[in-house]
Amino acid sequence: MSVVVMKFGGTSVEDPAAIERTAGIVAGRVAAGKQPVVVVSAMSKVTDQLLRAADEASKGHRNEAIEISTQLRERHKTTAAALVKNNTAEIHAFIDEHFNSLDEILRGLAVILELTPRISDLIVSFGERLSSRIITSAFAERGLNAAHVDAREVIITDSQYQKATPLDAPIEKRAEEKLRPLLNAGQLPVMGGFIASNEAGITTTLGRGGSDFTGALVGGALNADEIEIWTDVNGIMTTDPRICPDALRVKVISFEEAAELAYFGAKVLHPATILPAVKKNIPVAVLNSRNPSNEGTRIISLAPHCKSPFKSIAVKKRLSIIDVVASRMLMTHGYMKDIFTIFDKHQCPVDMVSTSEVSVSLTVDSNEKLPLIAADLSELADVKYEGRKALICLVGEDIRGHNGMAAAVFNAIRHINVRMISQGASEINMSFMIDEDDAEEAIRSLHATFFKDPDPAIFDVDARKAAL
Ligand code: ADP
Ligand code: ASP
Ligand code: MG
Repeated sequence: MSVVVMKFGGTSVEDPAAIERTAGIVAGRVAAGKQPVVVVSAMSKVTDQLLRAADEASKGHRNEAIEISTQLRERHKTTAAALVKNNTAEIHAFIDEHFNSLDEILRGLAVILELTPRISDLIVSFGERLSSRIITSAFAERGLNAAHVDAREVIITDSQYQKATPLDAPIEKRAEEKLRPLLNAGQLPVMGGFIASNEAGITTTLGRGGSDFTGALVGGALNADEIEIWTDVNGIMTTDPRICPDALRVKVISFEEAAELAYFGAKVLHPATILPAVKKNIPVAVLNSRNPSNEGTRIISLAPHCKSPFKSIAVKKRLSIIDVVASRMLMTHGYMKDIFTIFDKHQCPVDMVSTSEVSVSLTVDSNEKLPLIAADLSELADVKYEGRKALICLVGEDIRGHNGMAAAVFNAIRHINVRMISQGASEINMSFMIDEDDAEEAIRSLHATFFKDPDPAIFDVDARKAAL
Protein backbone atom coordinates (compact mmCIF):
# COMPACT_ATOMS: atom_id res chain seq x y z
CA MET A 1 0.00 0.00 0.00
CA SER A 2 1.21 3.45 -0.67
CA VAL A 3 2.28 5.55 2.31
CA VAL A 4 1.36 9.23 2.26
CA VAL A 5 2.60 11.72 4.84
CA MET A 6 -0.09 14.36 5.39
CA LYS A 7 1.03 17.51 7.22
CA PHE A 8 -1.67 19.87 8.46
CA GLY A 9 -0.68 23.42 9.44
CA GLY A 10 -2.05 25.56 12.28
CA THR A 11 -5.08 26.88 10.42
CA SER A 12 -6.02 23.35 9.34
CA VAL A 13 -6.40 22.42 13.03
CA GLU A 14 -7.38 25.81 14.45
CA ASP A 15 -10.77 24.80 15.90
CA PRO A 16 -13.20 21.86 16.07
CA ALA A 17 -14.61 22.60 12.60
CA ALA A 18 -11.12 22.63 11.05
CA ILE A 19 -10.15 19.39 12.80
CA GLU A 20 -13.40 17.83 11.63
CA ARG A 21 -12.51 18.81 8.03
CA THR A 22 -9.01 17.41 8.50
CA ALA A 23 -10.43 14.08 9.71
CA GLY A 24 -12.59 13.98 6.58
CA ILE A 25 -9.59 14.61 4.32
CA VAL A 26 -7.58 11.85 6.01
CA ALA A 27 -10.54 9.45 5.84
CA GLY A 28 -10.72 10.18 2.11
CA ARG A 29 -7.11 9.02 1.65
CA VAL A 30 -7.77 5.86 3.69
CA ALA A 31 -10.85 5.14 1.56
CA ALA A 32 -8.64 5.51 -1.53
CA GLY A 33 -6.45 2.67 -0.20
CA LYS A 34 -3.59 4.83 1.10
CA GLN A 35 -1.78 4.59 4.41
CA PRO A 36 -1.46 8.07 5.89
CA VAL A 37 0.98 9.23 8.54
CA VAL A 38 -0.39 12.49 9.92
CA VAL A 39 1.82 15.34 11.14
CA VAL A 40 0.08 18.31 12.77
CA SER A 41 1.09 21.79 13.86
CA ALA A 42 -0.07 23.44 17.05
CA MET A 43 -3.51 25.04 16.73
CA SER A 44 -3.08 28.38 14.97
CA LYS A 45 -1.40 31.16 16.99
CA VAL A 46 -0.64 28.81 19.91
CA THR A 47 3.11 28.84 19.23
CA ASP A 48 3.14 32.66 19.29
CA GLN A 49 1.14 32.70 22.52
CA LEU A 50 3.43 30.17 24.21
CA LEU A 51 6.42 32.29 23.24
CA ARG A 52 4.68 35.35 24.65
CA ALA A 53 3.97 33.51 27.92
CA ALA A 54 7.65 32.55 28.12
CA ASP A 55 8.68 36.13 27.47
CA GLU A 56 6.32 37.52 30.14
CA ALA A 57 7.51 34.94 32.68
CA SER A 58 11.16 35.69 31.99
CA LYS A 59 10.46 39.36 32.76
CA GLY A 60 8.99 38.37 36.10
CA HIS A 61 5.40 38.94 34.94
CA ARG A 62 4.14 35.72 36.46
CA ASN A 63 0.44 36.54 36.42
CA GLU A 64 0.47 37.63 32.78
CA ALA A 65 2.23 34.41 31.81
CA ILE A 66 -0.22 32.23 33.74
CA GLU A 67 -3.13 34.18 32.24
CA ILE A 68 -1.97 33.27 28.72
CA SER A 69 -1.54 29.65 29.74
CA THR A 70 -5.04 29.63 31.29
CA GLN A 71 -6.58 30.95 28.08
CA LEU A 72 -4.75 28.26 26.11
CA ARG A 73 -5.93 25.60 28.56
CA GLU A 74 -9.52 26.75 27.99
CA ARG A 75 -9.12 26.73 24.21
CA HIS A 76 -7.72 23.20 24.18
CA LYS A 77 -10.37 21.95 26.59
CA THR A 78 -13.22 23.48 24.60
CA THR A 79 -11.82 22.00 21.39
CA ALA A 80 -11.44 18.57 22.96
CA ALA A 81 -14.93 18.74 24.48
CA ALA A 82 -16.46 19.57 21.10
CA LEU A 83 -14.68 16.72 19.33
CA VAL A 84 -14.28 13.91 21.83
CA LYS A 85 -17.35 12.37 23.45
CA ASN A 86 -15.98 8.96 24.51
CA ASN A 87 -13.38 8.52 27.26
CA THR A 88 -13.53 12.23 27.91
CA ALA A 89 -11.82 11.91 31.30
CA GLU A 90 -8.64 10.65 29.65
CA ILE A 91 -8.19 13.51 27.23
CA HIS A 92 -9.08 16.17 29.81
CA ALA A 93 -6.63 14.64 32.27
CA PHE A 94 -3.95 14.77 29.56
CA ILE A 95 -4.68 18.45 28.89
CA ASP A 96 -4.69 19.36 32.60
CA GLU A 97 -1.48 17.47 33.31
CA HIS A 98 0.24 19.31 30.48
CA PHE A 99 -0.97 22.75 31.49
CA ASN A 100 -0.12 22.09 35.14
CA SER A 101 3.36 21.23 34.06
CA LEU A 102 3.55 24.30 31.77
CA ASP A 103 2.39 26.55 34.64
CA GLU A 104 5.06 25.10 36.86
CA ILE A 105 7.74 25.89 34.28
CA LEU A 106 6.38 29.43 33.81
CA ARG A 107 6.37 30.06 37.57
CA GLY A 108 9.93 28.81 37.83
CA LEU A 109 10.94 31.05 34.96
CA ALA A 110 9.33 34.04 36.66
CA VAL A 111 11.69 33.42 39.58
CA ILE A 112 14.82 32.61 37.61
CA LEU A 113 14.22 35.42 35.09
CA GLU A 114 16.37 33.83 32.42
CA LEU A 115 14.85 32.27 29.32
CA THR A 116 17.38 29.95 27.70
CA PRO A 117 16.84 28.58 24.18
CA ARG A 118 16.47 25.13 25.75
CA ILE A 119 13.63 26.24 28.07
CA SER A 120 12.01 28.15 25.22
CA ASP A 121 11.88 24.93 23.17
CA LEU A 122 10.40 23.04 26.10
CA ILE A 123 7.67 25.66 26.57
CA VAL A 124 6.82 25.94 22.89
CA SER A 125 6.66 22.13 22.50
CA PHE A 126 3.38 22.06 24.42
CA GLY A 127 1.53 23.38 21.35
CA GLU A 128 2.22 20.35 19.16
CA ARG A 129 2.14 17.88 22.07
CA LEU A 130 -1.42 18.98 22.86
CA SER A 131 -2.76 19.38 19.34
CA SER A 132 -1.47 15.98 18.20
CA ARG A 133 -3.00 14.22 21.20
CA ILE A 134 -6.42 15.89 20.85
CA ILE A 135 -6.47 15.22 17.11
CA THR A 136 -5.65 11.54 17.66
CA SER A 137 -8.73 11.16 19.89
CA ALA A 138 -10.87 13.16 17.46
CA PHE A 139 -9.74 10.89 14.59
CA ALA A 140 -10.36 7.74 16.63
CA GLU A 141 -13.94 8.82 17.26
CA ARG A 142 -14.45 9.33 13.58
CA GLY A 143 -13.60 5.76 12.73
CA LEU A 144 -9.91 6.26 11.94
CA ASN A 145 -7.54 3.77 13.54
CA ALA A 146 -5.38 6.59 14.91
CA ALA A 147 -2.39 6.06 17.23
CA HIS A 148 -0.61 8.96 18.92
CA VAL A 149 3.17 9.09 18.54
CA ASP A 150 5.35 11.54 20.47
CA ALA A 151 7.33 13.22 17.69
CA ARG A 152 10.24 13.69 20.09
CA GLU A 153 10.80 9.95 20.01
CA VAL A 154 11.12 9.94 16.22
CA ILE A 155 12.70 13.21 15.13
CA ILE A 156 16.20 13.23 16.59
CA THR A 157 18.34 16.36 16.20
CA ASP A 158 21.54 17.98 17.38
CA SER A 159 21.33 20.31 20.39
CA GLN A 160 21.02 23.61 18.57
CA TYR A 161 17.88 24.67 20.40
CA GLN A 162 15.26 26.70 18.50
CA LYS A 163 16.64 25.64 15.12
CA ALA A 164 18.00 22.16 15.54
CA THR A 165 19.44 20.14 12.69
CA PRO A 166 17.86 16.70 12.20
CA LEU A 167 20.08 13.62 12.20
CA ASP A 168 19.08 11.36 9.32
CA ALA A 169 20.32 7.98 10.53
CA PRO A 170 18.66 8.02 13.99
CA ILE A 171 15.46 9.38 12.45
CA GLU A 172 15.34 6.50 9.96
CA LYS A 173 15.95 4.04 12.76
CA ARG A 174 13.24 5.56 14.98
CA ALA A 175 10.77 5.73 12.10
CA GLU A 176 11.28 2.00 11.52
CA GLU A 177 10.89 1.29 15.25
CA LYS A 178 8.01 3.62 16.10
CA LEU A 179 6.05 4.25 12.91
CA ARG A 180 6.53 1.26 10.62
CA PRO A 181 5.03 -1.30 13.06
CA LEU A 182 1.92 0.89 13.39
CA LEU A 183 1.55 1.04 9.61
CA ASN A 184 2.09 -2.71 9.35
CA ALA A 185 -0.68 -3.19 11.89
CA GLY A 186 -3.01 -1.04 9.80
CA GLN A 187 -2.88 1.89 12.23
CA LEU A 188 -2.68 5.57 11.43
CA PRO A 189 0.15 7.36 13.27
CA VAL A 190 -0.57 10.97 14.34
CA MET A 191 2.33 13.10 15.57
CA GLY A 192 3.22 16.74 16.17
CA GLY A 193 5.41 18.61 13.73
CA PHE A 194 8.17 21.06 14.69
CA ILE A 195 9.15 19.34 17.96
CA ALA A 196 12.01 16.93 18.31
CA SER A 197 14.62 15.86 20.80
CA ASN A 198 18.35 15.48 20.93
CA GLU A 199 20.00 12.11 21.49
CA ALA A 200 19.83 12.64 25.26
CA GLY A 201 16.04 13.00 24.97
CA ILE A 202 15.92 16.74 25.67
CA THR A 203 13.26 18.63 23.71
CA THR A 204 14.41 20.67 20.70
CA THR A 205 12.54 22.33 17.82
CA LEU A 206 13.21 22.66 14.10
CA GLY A 207 12.63 26.43 13.93
CA ARG A 208 9.47 28.42 13.20
CA GLY A 209 7.30 26.87 10.51
CA GLY A 210 9.16 23.60 11.08
CA SER A 211 6.17 21.25 10.88
CA ASP A 212 6.55 21.13 7.09
CA PHE A 213 10.11 19.95 7.69
CA THR A 214 8.87 17.21 10.05
CA GLY A 215 6.46 16.04 7.36
CA ALA A 216 9.28 15.81 4.84
CA LEU A 217 11.64 14.09 7.30
CA VAL A 218 9.04 11.45 8.11
CA GLY A 219 8.31 11.02 4.41
CA GLY A 220 12.00 10.59 3.65
CA ALA A 221 12.63 8.21 6.56
CA LEU A 222 9.71 5.97 5.60
CA ASN A 223 10.36 6.24 1.85
CA ALA A 224 6.80 7.47 1.51
CA ASP A 225 5.14 7.60 -1.90
CA GLU A 226 4.00 11.16 -1.43
CA ILE A 227 4.21 14.09 0.98
CA GLU A 228 1.18 16.37 1.28
CA ILE A 229 1.41 19.81 2.91
CA TRP A 230 -2.12 20.92 3.78
CA THR A 231 -2.47 24.66 4.42
CA ASP A 232 -4.90 27.58 4.06
CA VAL A 233 -4.28 28.53 0.40
CA ASN A 234 -4.77 26.57 -2.83
CA GLY A 235 -1.07 25.80 -3.18
CA ILE A 236 2.08 27.68 -4.07
CA MET A 237 0.87 30.90 -5.66
CA THR A 238 2.55 33.35 -8.00
CA THR A 239 3.14 35.50 -4.92
CA ASP A 240 1.80 35.80 -1.37
CA PRO A 241 -1.97 36.21 -1.91
CA ARG A 242 -2.10 38.45 1.17
CA ILE A 243 -0.03 41.00 -0.76
CA CYS A 244 -1.56 40.39 -4.15
CA PRO A 245 -5.11 39.01 -4.05
CA ASP A 246 -5.01 38.16 -7.77
CA ALA A 247 -2.06 35.78 -7.30
CA LEU A 248 -2.55 32.57 -9.29
CA ARG A 249 -2.00 29.00 -8.21
CA VAL A 250 1.11 27.42 -9.71
CA LYS A 251 0.03 23.95 -10.80
CA VAL A 252 3.46 22.40 -10.99
CA ILE A 253 6.91 23.55 -9.91
CA SER A 254 10.33 21.94 -9.60
CA PHE A 255 12.02 21.02 -6.32
CA GLU A 256 14.73 23.55 -7.10
CA GLU A 257 12.28 26.40 -7.71
CA ALA A 258 10.22 25.58 -4.62
CA ALA A 259 13.34 25.43 -2.45
CA GLU A 260 14.51 28.80 -3.75
CA LEU A 261 11.10 30.37 -3.09
CA ALA A 262 10.94 28.95 0.42
CA TYR A 263 14.47 30.10 1.19
CA PHE A 264 13.65 33.60 -0.01
CA GLY A 265 10.63 33.98 2.22
CA ALA A 266 7.55 32.26 0.71
CA LYS A 267 6.05 31.22 4.03
CA VAL A 268 3.92 28.51 2.47
CA LEU A 269 6.85 26.06 2.80
CA HIS A 270 9.61 25.82 5.38
CA PRO A 271 12.92 26.18 3.48
CA ALA A 272 14.28 22.79 4.54
CA THR A 273 11.16 20.88 3.47
CA ILE A 274 12.38 20.09 0.01
CA LEU A 275 15.66 18.46 0.97
CA PRO A 276 14.43 15.10 2.33
CA ALA A 277 11.98 14.88 -0.56
CA VAL A 278 14.72 15.53 -3.13
CA LYS A 279 17.04 12.95 -1.57
CA LYS A 280 14.44 10.23 -2.02
CA ASN A 281 12.71 11.79 -5.03
CA ILE A 282 9.33 11.88 -3.28
CA PRO A 283 6.76 14.17 -4.91
CA VAL A 284 5.35 16.89 -2.64
CA ALA A 285 1.88 18.37 -3.01
CA VAL A 286 0.72 21.63 -1.41
CA LEU A 287 -3.03 21.55 -0.83
CA ASN A 288 -5.81 23.61 0.75
CA SER A 289 -7.61 22.00 3.69
CA ARG A 290 -10.46 24.49 3.26
CA ASN A 291 -10.83 23.54 -0.38
CA PRO A 292 -9.67 19.92 -0.58
CA SER A 293 -10.98 19.24 -4.06
CA ASN A 294 -8.59 21.80 -5.55
CA GLU A 295 -5.59 20.16 -7.23
CA GLY A 296 -3.04 22.30 -5.37
CA THR A 297 0.60 22.50 -6.44
CA ARG A 298 2.73 19.50 -7.32
CA ILE A 299 6.45 19.80 -6.61
CA ILE A 300 8.44 17.37 -8.72
CA SER A 301 12.04 16.95 -9.82
CA LEU A 302 11.65 18.24 -13.38
CA ALA A 303 9.02 20.88 -14.02
CA PRO A 304 7.58 21.13 -17.53
CA HIS A 305 8.62 24.04 -19.71
CA CYS A 306 6.84 27.30 -18.96
CA LYS A 307 6.29 30.13 -21.41
CA SER A 308 6.53 32.75 -18.68
CA PRO A 309 10.01 33.53 -17.34
CA PHE A 310 8.98 33.41 -13.68
CA LYS A 311 6.90 31.03 -11.60
CA SER A 312 6.60 33.08 -8.44
CA ILE A 313 7.82 36.12 -6.52
CA ALA A 314 8.93 35.85 -2.89
CA VAL A 315 9.80 38.49 -0.35
CA LYS A 316 11.97 38.22 2.70
CA LYS A 317 11.62 41.06 5.17
CA ARG A 318 13.42 42.18 8.34
CA LEU A 319 16.80 42.14 6.68
CA SER A 320 19.76 44.41 7.29
CA ILE A 321 22.42 45.54 4.89
CA ILE A 322 26.00 45.85 6.09
CA ASP A 323 28.52 47.92 4.12
CA VAL A 324 32.17 47.25 4.81
CA VAL A 325 34.32 49.97 3.25
CA ALA A 326 38.08 49.56 3.24
CA SER A 327 40.51 52.42 3.00
CA ARG A 328 43.03 50.19 1.23
CA MET A 329 42.58 47.90 -1.76
CA LEU A 330 39.97 45.42 -0.82
CA MET A 331 40.88 42.40 -2.79
CA THR A 332 44.09 41.73 -1.02
CA HIS A 333 44.56 38.10 -0.30
CA GLY A 334 42.53 36.79 2.65
CA TYR A 335 40.36 39.87 3.10
CA MET A 336 37.05 38.22 2.20
CA LYS A 337 37.99 35.27 4.34
CA ASP A 338 38.47 37.59 7.32
CA ILE A 339 35.05 39.13 6.75
CA PHE A 340 33.30 35.79 6.50
CA THR A 341 35.16 34.44 9.52
CA ILE A 342 33.46 37.14 11.57
CA PHE A 343 30.00 36.15 10.32
CA ASP A 344 30.89 32.54 10.99
CA LYS A 345 32.01 33.32 14.52
CA HIS A 346 28.60 34.87 15.23
CA GLN A 347 26.80 32.01 13.43
CA CYS A 348 25.12 34.56 11.20
CA PRO A 349 24.16 33.38 7.71
CA VAL A 350 24.65 35.86 4.86
CA ASP A 351 21.96 36.05 2.15
CA MET A 352 23.52 38.20 -0.52
CA VAL A 353 26.97 39.64 -1.19
CA SER A 354 28.14 42.31 -3.58
CA THR A 355 31.64 43.70 -3.95
CA SER A 356 33.46 46.60 -5.54
CA GLU A 357 37.11 47.48 -5.39
CA VAL A 358 36.88 49.05 -1.96
CA SER A 359 33.64 47.84 -0.47
CA VAL A 360 31.64 44.74 0.31
CA SER A 361 27.89 44.86 0.99
CA LEU A 362 26.26 41.92 2.70
CA THR A 363 22.71 41.24 3.75
CA VAL A 364 21.68 39.29 6.81
CA ASP A 365 18.54 38.68 8.87
CA SER A 366 18.19 41.56 11.31
CA ASN A 367 19.29 40.22 14.65
CA GLU A 368 20.54 41.29 18.02
CA LYS A 369 24.10 40.22 17.16
CA LEU A 370 24.50 42.95 14.52
CA PRO A 371 26.23 45.51 16.77
CA LEU A 372 28.72 42.83 17.84
CA ILE A 373 29.34 41.78 14.25
CA ALA A 374 29.79 45.42 13.23
CA ALA A 375 32.23 45.96 16.10
CA ASP A 376 34.33 42.98 14.94
CA LEU A 377 34.19 44.11 11.31
CA SER A 378 35.26 47.61 12.22
CA GLU A 379 38.67 46.16 13.11
CA LEU A 380 39.05 45.52 9.36
CA ALA A 381 37.39 48.56 7.80
CA ASP A 382 34.69 51.19 8.16
CA VAL A 383 31.31 49.62 8.78
CA LYS A 384 27.76 50.87 8.37
CA TYR A 385 24.58 48.92 8.79
CA GLU A 386 20.95 49.69 8.11
CA GLY A 387 17.84 47.68 8.95
CA ARG A 388 14.26 47.51 7.56
CA LYS A 389 15.31 46.10 4.21
CA ALA A 390 13.48 43.53 2.10
CA LEU A 391 14.77 41.11 -0.50
CA ILE A 392 12.51 40.50 -3.46
CA CYS A 393 13.23 37.30 -5.32
CA LEU A 394 11.79 36.24 -8.68
CA VAL A 395 12.09 32.52 -9.31
CA GLY A 396 11.74 30.51 -12.47
CA GLU A 397 13.68 27.90 -14.40
CA ASP A 398 12.87 29.67 -17.61
CA ILE A 399 14.64 32.95 -16.78
CA ARG A 400 17.62 31.64 -18.70
CA GLY A 401 15.57 31.24 -21.86
CA HIS A 402 14.53 34.90 -21.94
CA ASN A 403 16.68 37.82 -23.02
CA GLY A 404 16.37 41.25 -21.45
CA MET A 405 14.85 40.00 -18.22
CA ALA A 406 16.87 42.30 -15.95
CA ALA A 407 15.73 45.31 -17.97
CA ALA A 408 12.10 44.19 -17.80
CA VAL A 409 12.28 43.64 -14.04
CA PHE A 410 13.88 46.97 -13.24
CA ASN A 411 11.58 48.77 -15.64
CA ALA A 412 8.59 47.38 -13.74
CA ILE A 413 9.92 48.88 -10.50
CA ARG A 414 11.63 51.96 -11.91
CA HIS A 415 9.82 54.13 -9.32
CA ILE A 416 11.52 52.22 -6.47
CA ASN A 417 15.03 52.70 -5.12
CA VAL A 418 17.05 49.49 -5.44
CA ARG A 419 19.94 48.99 -3.00
CA MET A 420 21.57 45.77 -4.13
CA ILE A 421 21.12 43.34 -7.01
CA SER A 422 22.04 39.72 -7.47
CA GLN A 423 21.71 37.49 -10.44
CA GLY A 424 23.86 34.55 -11.22
CA ALA A 425 24.24 32.87 -7.86
CA SER A 426 21.54 30.60 -9.11
CA GLU A 427 20.31 30.46 -12.67
CA ILE A 428 16.75 30.31 -11.48
CA ASN A 429 16.45 33.46 -9.44
CA MET A 430 16.85 37.20 -9.73
CA SER A 431 16.86 39.10 -6.48
CA PHE A 432 17.26 42.62 -5.31
CA MET A 433 17.15 44.54 -2.08
CA ILE A 434 14.90 47.51 -1.36
CA ASP A 435 13.47 49.35 1.65
CA GLU A 436 10.94 47.25 3.50
CA ASP A 437 8.29 49.95 3.09
CA ASP A 438 8.51 49.60 -0.72
CA ALA A 439 8.20 45.81 -0.75
CA GLU A 440 4.49 45.38 -1.31
CA GLU A 441 4.31 48.01 -4.02
CA ALA A 442 7.28 46.38 -5.78
CA ILE A 443 5.62 42.96 -5.67
CA ARG A 444 2.35 44.26 -7.02
CA SER A 445 4.11 46.06 -9.89
CA LEU A 446 6.18 42.98 -10.77
CA HIS A 447 3.18 40.70 -10.52
CA ALA A 448 1.11 42.92 -12.79
CA THR A 449 3.94 42.94 -15.34
CA PHE A 450 4.94 39.29 -15.37
CA PHE A 451 1.63 37.52 -14.75
CA LYS A 452 -0.49 39.49 -17.20
CA ASP A 453 -0.61 36.64 -19.69
CA PRO A 454 0.26 33.50 -17.74
CA ASP A 455 0.95 30.12 -19.34
CA PRO A 456 -2.23 28.03 -18.78
CA ALA A 457 -0.17 24.82 -18.65
CA ILE A 458 1.55 26.02 -15.49
CA PHE A 459 -0.81 28.49 -13.82
CA ASP A 460 -4.44 28.15 -12.83
CA VAL A 461 -5.77 30.82 -15.18
CA ASP A 462 -9.33 29.48 -14.91
CA ALA A 463 -9.55 30.78 -11.33
CA ARG A 464 -8.72 34.29 -12.57
CA LYS A 465 -11.28 34.07 -15.38
CA ALA A 466 -13.90 32.83 -12.90
CA ALA A 467 -13.21 35.80 -10.63
CA LEU A 468 -13.84 38.31 -13.44
P1 ADP B 1 0.57 26.65 7.79
O1 ADP B 1 0.13 27.10 9.14
O2 ADP B 1 -0.44 25.77 7.10
O3 ADP B 1 1.95 26.09 7.79
P2 ADP B 1 1.61 29.17 6.82
O4 ADP B 1 0.93 30.39 7.37
O5 ADP B 1 2.92 28.78 7.39
O6 ADP B 1 0.57 27.95 6.89
O7 ADP B 1 1.78 29.31 5.22
C1 ADP B 1 0.67 29.64 4.42
C2 ADP B 1 0.68 31.13 4.09
O8 ADP B 1 1.84 31.42 3.33
C3 ADP B 1 -0.44 31.58 3.21
O9 ADP B 1 -1.60 31.89 3.95
C4 ADP B 1 0.14 32.81 2.50
O10 ADP B 1 -0.27 34.02 3.07
C5 ADP B 1 1.64 32.67 2.69
N1 ADP B 1 2.40 32.70 1.42
C6 ADP B 1 3.51 33.44 1.20
N2 ADP B 1 3.95 33.27 -0.06
C7 ADP B 1 3.13 32.39 -0.66
C8 ADP B 1 3.07 31.81 -1.96
N3 ADP B 1 3.97 32.08 -2.91
N4 ADP B 1 2.09 30.94 -2.21
C9 ADP B 1 1.16 30.64 -1.26
N5 ADP B 1 1.16 31.17 -0.03
C10 ADP B 1 2.12 32.03 0.29
N1 ASP C 1 3.80 25.62 15.31
C1 ASP C 1 5.09 25.96 14.75
C2 ASP C 1 5.11 27.43 14.35
O1 ASP C 1 4.10 28.11 14.45
C3 ASP C 1 5.48 25.08 13.62
C4 ASP C 1 4.57 25.11 12.41
O2 ASP C 1 3.39 25.43 12.51
O3 ASP C 1 5.07 24.75 11.33
O4 ASP C 1 6.14 27.92 14.00
MG1 MG D 1 3.86 26.98 7.87
